[in-house]
Amino acid sequence: MKKENILLILMSIVVINVNAQFGKILSKTKNIEAGKKLVKAATLSDEDMATLSLQSVKWMDENNPIAEAGDTYADRLSKLVAGLDNEDGLTLNFKVYRVVDVNAFATPDGSVRVMAGLMDLMTDDELLSVIGHEIGHVKLGHSKKRYQSAYAISAAKDVAVANTNAGKVLADEEIGNFVETVANAQFSQTNESSADEYGFKFLVRHNFNYHGMEGAFKKLADLSADGGKGSLTSSHPGSAKRSARAKEWAEKQDKNK
Ligand SMILES: [Zn+2]
Repeated sequence: MKKENILLILMSIVVINVNAQFGKILSKTKNIEAGKKLVKAATLSDEDMATLSLQSVKWMDENNPIAEAGDTYADRLSKLVAGLDNEDGLTLNFKVYRVVDVNAFATPDGSVRVMAGLMDLMTDDELLSVIGHEIGHVKLGHSKKRYQSAYAISAAKDVAVANTNAGKVLADEEIGNFVETVANAQFSQTNESSADEYGFKFLVRHNFNYHGMEGAFKKLADLSADGGKGSLTSSHPGSAKRSARAKEWAEKQDKNK
């Protein structure tokens, strides 16, 4: 891993931590310390990656308020993703976090988490486009890269592998910091563009309303124009442009029908 990348990640921790409630729930300390302790970039095997991904999701699920069955948000999401058990070889599971953030994410193990704030903002079609986009980050290997980078700056990496047999790659006391590093890292513009493309094809493939994507980005664009500070907006720049692009795709798709 290059020095500049590490610096970027550390900078984004400092800058982005300020807003999101999602971020507030996670512990905020020690990240800079962890960065300083960097010795060398360790490479995770696929097996370790899967374990670390599961370990992270478990931690996030335990440290964020989950909407249980019967909750309006939980019921809406489960209805929306009914039948979406497997995406192109990736087994999926879905949960809602009852937090105000306008955000969603997916992890390499196939866990998709949607924040209530995003659900309040978006229609079902728009939500599906965001879900498709997030799955795209996983399927295209972007999330794995992000995990790898966060792992490389984790202070505990030298003691980590010893725990693999216990279903853990990082020690319990380190996973919170690790998760926050992952959450605060940003995808490149190129990654965002290809995840959009994946998301659009996802909508088409599942016979969802593929016009949902332009609407979703339009709302995110309006939100940033309003000075809104949702994590999805800050990590997904150029929303207006992306809405226009999604609109073009949809119109082209309309003609193909
Ligand atoms: Zn994205």
